[in-house]
Amino acid sequence: MSILEGICPQCGGHSTDGEVCGRCRVAKETWVSCDARVRAVVCSTCGASRSGSVWRDQDLTRDEIATVVAKTAIHLHPECMPGEIKALVREEDPQRTTVIFTLSGTLWGEPVEKDCSVEVFWNKEQCDRCNRISGNYYEGVIQVRAEGRRPTPTELAAAQRIAAEVEETMQQRGERLSVIVREEETKDGLDLIVSSHQIGDEVAGSIVRAMGGRVTTHPKLAGERAGRPLYRVTYAVRLPNLTKGDIIWLNRTYGKVIEPGSRTFRYIDLNTGSVRVRRSADIQRLVGNIRDAEETIVAYVEGPVIGVLDPDSGATLECQAASWRKVLAGDRVKVLKDQDHLVIV
Ligand SMILES: [Zn+2]
Ligand SMILES: [Zn+2]
Repeated sequence: MSILEGICPQCGGHSTDGEVCGRCRVAKETWVSCDARVRAVVCSTCGASRSGSVWRDQDLTRDEIATVVAKTAIHLHPECMPGEIKALVREEDPQRTTVIFTLSGTLWGEPVEKDCSVEVFWNKEQCDRCNRISGNYYEGVIQVRAEGRRPTPTELAAAQRIAAEVEETMQQRGERLSVIVREEETKDGLDLIVSSHQIGDEVAGSIVRAMGGRVTTHPKLAGERAGRPLYRVTYAVRLPNLTKGDIIWLNRTYGKVIEPGSRTFRYIDLNTGSVRVRRSADIQRLVGNIRDAEETIVAYVEGPVIGVLDPDSGATLECQAASWRKVLAGDRVKVLKDQDHLVIV
């Protein structure tokens, strides 16, 4: 090996193969360039951010979004091995944020480092989802009704809760255009106006799975949108009518249905033992049916209070004694659970 083979012809420094050394090549090369300005587009209503034509919900702070967007301004030499990127975020005003990067990497074996600053301009637009909602765009209506009666307030609340849970799950799955646009109480029940067929199918199906009844769908052509036919679907959910043996809560007592009807029904007041007739619309809560009652043991009777073993936990829970039926300690009784109460049926 001659002496020249180990020397860089430009700087005279060490070079293994006698070619221009890495340091000299790097000095002449732009290993990184940064655009001075970039745009960050966020939704003025919900905070989603857009990159290209795609809107995304991000669980990021404003500083984090600024950093992500500013990184798109960094252009590395294709042969550079990127190293650490440190970012310092400086809020200038509501429209501008400066992100100062300290960049490092390796090019042709030489370590490189550089600072650059990128100005992020904030642009506010309305995202595709908020645009649908504010433009009153919808693809379906879920009509929550009950067969021969109005659904009870508890049933309506349960339907609303199920709808909210389905919406939440779909949003987390990234189906951001599937939302409940509006909820309207009507004289027969509840209307849930939905933005997509997907959420309509899922909510209607979930309500019926959890609460019984059935759902029928009725699509109808409602014009065109972006050159494609727009179908609006009515999801008719029918919760089951009362059945014999249903335990209901109304007028601050429990009752057992003995004769269901479409507008009025007959029941035994479980407090007094008397038979009454009321309108179906007066039912405040459907607790369950007597066929689902569990057998348990009376632990003690103390005047108007009966201690009953909770069949699930084994703990003793107190129930109201009823004047019309005699219950003694050690008796076996059937109970239904109503939230954290036991009802002797
Ligand atoms: Zn050199
Ligand atoms: Zn939005």
